[in-house]
Amino acid sequence: MKILIVGGGGREHALAWKCAQSSAVTHVAVAPGNAGTAVEPKCANVEIAAHDIDALLRYAAREAIDLTIVGPEAPLVAGIVDRFLAAGLPIFGPGRAAARLEGSKAYAKDFLRRHRIPTARYARFTRADFDPAYVRAQPLPVVVKADGLAAGKGVVICDTHAAAVSTAQAMFAGDHGGAGRRIVVEEFLAGEEVSFIVIASDQQVLPLATSQDHKRRDDGDLGPNTGGMGAYSPAPLVTPALHERIMAEVVRPTLRGLRDDGNPYTGFLYAGLMIAPDGTPNVIEFNCRFGDPEAQPVLMRLRGDLPGLCLAAIAGRLDQVTAGWDERAALGVVMAAGGYPDAYRRGELITGLAEAARLPGKVFHAGTALQDGKVVTGGGRVLCAVGLGDTVAAAQAQAYALVHGIHWNLVQYRRDIGWRAIARD
Ligand code: AMP
Repeated sequence: MKILIVGGGGREHALAWKCAQSSAVTHVAVAPGNAGTAVEPKCANVEIAAHDIDALLRYAAREAIDLTIVGPEAPLVAGIVDRFLAAGLPIFGPGRAAARLEGSKAYAKDFLRRHRIPTARYARFTRADFDPAYVRAQPLPVVVKADGLAAGKGVVICDTHAAAVSTAQAMFAGDHGGAGRRIVVEEFLAGEEVSFIVIASDQQVLPLATSQDHKRRDDGDLGPNTGGMGAYSPAPLVTPALHERIMAEVVRPTLRGLRDDGNPYTGFLYAGLMIAPDGTPNVIEFNCRFGDPEAQPVLMRLRGDLPGLCLAAIAGRLDQVTAGWDERAALGVVMAAGGYPDAYRRGELITGLAEAARLPGKVFHAGTALQDGKVVTGGGRVLCAVGLGDTVAAAQAQAYALVHGIHWNLVQYRRDIGWRAIARD
């Protein structure tokens, strides 16, 4: 069986690595991939950008790809799944209409309200109907969000009403490009966040292991928001009782709502949840794909056959398969370029990878490239070092043993990934 993974980040390295472990798989092509997928057994990179749907389609048809798995959201929101299915090519992910759950925050909020799924109170505005008086009437802090995809940077938590109004106006003025033409102003929710990711096939659903990520750049969950600086699985916050509440109050109503709206959903569905002190699982956001960096620790724990699970979902027989999880905890530490999430340099030589490959755990590449046969930095989030252990603390120790042997100029990483879970252990 031949697989195509679309994307080139850490999540895609983990997807490719996991697919390559399947005995049914002979070859995994990664478009465009990174320096990690370039050397992974059974894997090879293809020089096609993740957004170039025409070229991906031609490649999958020419190479008779048996299954395409889409990593990032942009091609999903742009309709890659509809295009592949129309051409008779097997692909795992939601169609364009269902992917609006991630592609438009205003659409997602209206969907949540319509289907009575718990979420923060909100109002949506365009420049023409913006009402500063509404904003000033909200309790502080208040959250202002650009409507469209903004690479994780379209959310601003404002401590004053003046900041909220000026943030909204900056979004209308084009701070986030087209993503800010519409905005959502929403109530700030206190609590702890968890990532709840499932494989969905219309009304059939296979929950994946729970996880928790760290979005802020600095230790103690401080500093600017990022795409994610680390993650671990399982999330001890999610007890069996809370798991059942999330399935009953969020996941099943969401899949029902999608079907009732005429957009049945197949693919990874990611609910970012804020668990209120009373246990209410409020939806902060939906993603229409696997999380990054959640994919790296979650897939480290998956025992089941990933391509088999995806094909079962596509065929509507998800109820006949099980995932199977390593009982141990997995924890991933993101190593980022200095300056990230703002401007950073590329092309820095990375050392220590060969030594790290001999240690327990796994280093997944994200923003890396090959230059004259050497691995250099090629993005903001560069690597994710994942450890396994009987406790989160043991997994953390294994992950940091990998991190400490790897260097480049101006590398940065958090030193406390998993601290909430370790405090609970
Ligand atoms: P989003 O892109 O919607 O996931 O937002 C990015 C991050 O902002 C989330 O992971 C939360 O940490 C935070 N956030 C978003 N909305 C809220 C909210 N209503 N209350 C508190 N924090 C929020």
